Amino acid sequence: MVGLSLIPLFASIALAAPEKSHCRCRPHEACWPTNEQWSSLNSTIQGNLVATRPIASVCHEADFDEAACKTVKERWTDSYWRAAQPGAVQWENWEAWPEHHQSCYIESDESTTCGQGRVSLYSAKVQTASHIQKAVDFARTYDLRLAIRNSGHDYMGRSTAPESLQIFTNGMKDITFVDNFVPAGAPGGKGEGHAVTMAAGVHLSELYKAAGEKKRTVQAGASHTVGAAGGYIQAGGHSPFGARGGLASDNALEFQVVTADVSELHKRRLTHG
Ligand SMILES: Cc1cc2nc3c(=O)[nH]c(=O)nc-3n(C[C@H](O)[C@H](O)[C@H](O)COP(=O)(O)OP(=O)(O)OC[C@H]3O[C@@H](n4cnc5c(N)ncnc54)[C@H](O)[C@@H]3O)c2cc1C
Repeated sequence: MVGLSLIPLFASIALAAPEKSHCRCRPHEACWPTNEQWSSLNSTIQGNLVATRPIASVCHEADFDEAACKTVKERWTDSYWRAAQPGAVQWENWEAWPEHHQSCYIESDESTTCGQGRVSLYSAKVQTASHIQKAVDFARTYDLRLAIRNSGHDYMGRSTAPESLQIFTNGMKDITFVDNFVPAGAPGGKGEGHAVTMAAGVHLSELYKAAGEKKRTVQAGASHTVGAAGGYIQAGGHSPFGARGGLASDNALEFQVVTADVSELHKRRLTHG
């Protein structure tokens, strides 16, 4: 680290020295898992591993399927549908890999090759914390690039990555409400009052609907398909009522996380009024 004095008496900003680059294992390399090893991962996550192709692949040559292509064209801008497709994100530019001239659009001719782009090669459509642990462990064992994909809304394209294994959390939809939530290890077992626990793939619209049915309010954001428990809350989480209730993360009581060494779990809850 190098300290840089910008303007004496005003500020000092630390600059990080360039880090040594490290490339993850790539599909053409000997380190890449064999078909048997991918099958083994599939077994450990109860058959929830899929080989992923860009959503428009069914409109191009080898994968062409007229009926499926018609559906893709009709739903191309449908945010709910895109959220549920491991082969898509919400912003189609992040599905392309321009540096490698790879893209797959519905506008291009049927005879053109559908490039994989930045769409992950495999998707672990996880349903449980154990599935996530298995996928993280597999990625670590084979030194694979990992992409965590919830709604796919990330403006910076961080929920997709070229030649990666995707952890697709969008199918984790559990929502539970309790009247007096007691965080793990709370002094004296003291409760925090009303709380909702939501799994990693719950959309804001799903959370609002569930809270409405319970006549409760939740401090969360403005989009229907943004994930409540993913990138939204991890970046703070702005809300129309932020001036009154703070950020979504200010209201978090517990997080349940899978760590990189897959050994630790903690819990996550979000208060609501
Ligand atoms: C239409 C629209 C409206 C929005 N409105 C608001 C708003 O009102 N308030 C606000 O604060 N923000 C808003 N945002 C911004 C939004 O919160 C961010 O884009 C957020 O990153 C989306 O998170 P996601 O999990 O839904 O998306 P994803 O693209 O799936 O994920 C975003 C990032 O979080 C990571 N991630 C996702 N899930 C997990 C997980 N379980 N564990 C670890 N990492 C994970 C991904 O790898 C990626 O880096 C809006 C965005 C859009 C497109």
